[in-house]
Amino acid sequence: MSETLREGKLLTRPSTVGDDWFAGGGRSERAVYVPLVSRGRLEGVLAIAARTRNDHMRDHRLLSALGVVLGLALDNCRLYEGQRAHAQHLQQLNRMKSDFLSTVSHELRTPLTSIMMAAEMLLEEEETRDPQSTRGKLVANIVRGASRLSGLVKDLVNISRDDEFKPRLEVDVVAIDDLISNAVGIVQPLVGAKHQTIDITSTAPGTVVRVDRLRFEQVLINLLSNAQRYTPPAGHITVSTRIDKREIIVTVADSGPGISPSERELIFEPFYRGDRSGMGLGLAIAKSLAELHNGRIWVESSDRHGSEFCVALPLQSTVGGRALVAPAATR
Ligand code: ADP
Repeated sequence: MSETLREGKLLTRPSTVGDDWFAGGGRSERAVYVPLVSRGRLEGVLAIAARTRNDHMRDHRLLSALGVVLGLALDNCRLYEGQRAHAQHLQQLNRMKSDFLSTVSHELRTPLTSIMMAAEMLLEEEETRDPQSTRGKLVANIVRGASRLSGLVKDLVNISRDDEFKPRLEVDVVAIDDLISNAVGIVQPLVGAKHQTIDITSTAPGTVVRVDRLRFEQVLINLLSNAQRYTPPAGHITVSTRIDKREIIVTVADSGPGISPSERELIFEPFYRGDRSGMGLGLAIAKSLAELHNGRIWVESSDRHGSEFCVALPLQSTVGGRALVAPAATR
């Protein structure tokens, strides 16, 4: 047996006294040692002993084939065991991730609720005093930001629960230009703070779409806030809208570092964040929401010249000369 283990060759030897153990205690005539080979690697040795002369024992091709089949089976068992351990490990990590997410989101909820309540009370006071005051506008900004944040926290709770993000949509007919200017308005303070600029252009002005206003705005905000975050100070962001064949396409282009081809699919996976900081959820949420609207999202980017994120909704019909985009699948 050790000879076969050493040389990896099928060997036939007369049985020796030491072989008695596998002959069931009785004396055997011959023993054949078959190497068990899988993917060119010796996995073990099968030792066969016969008490009587047996033609099968001489058929070395058959025995070698048996060795290969058994070698593969052994290899598969080992791989299966490895995969099972890996799957168990992933399941455990997934549970830890879900626990972590639900703890974090619950911890965030309480202080957020106090911020919202306090800001809403302040806003009420400001509105009765002077609705146009700068203070009033700033407080309104806090209320808007806090309510967005509490929406995101709710999404986090949902993701930690289901691992899938499928909120119920409340569909409205909305002008795409309004959605874009609302979304731009939300990131504008951050853009201004970094001396960046945003341009909005459209070759399809007046297009109305049937979407869940808040949810679709969230897609645009997620794209815009990434563009703002990854674009260097004094950099430039462009939001453009066009109709192409049967779709309306909104593109958010930035002058940031761009995304390498190998990362272009990965960045839409939940929790993927390359070597950058962040939660890695923004694009995964944007993708789920775009798809819930029967749309699609992708990135066109070169490594050096910034990124271009595109979100497309299928065009369905026109209303009063204006394009109307397909209704989202309500759930
Ligand atoms: P995060 O909130 O961590 O940014 P996202 O899901 O929004 O998560 O993005 C995932 C990853 O995609 C980011 O960590 C970053 O590596 C990359 N990315 C997203 N947007 C851009 C962009 N405009 N420019 C460069 N890289 C980007």
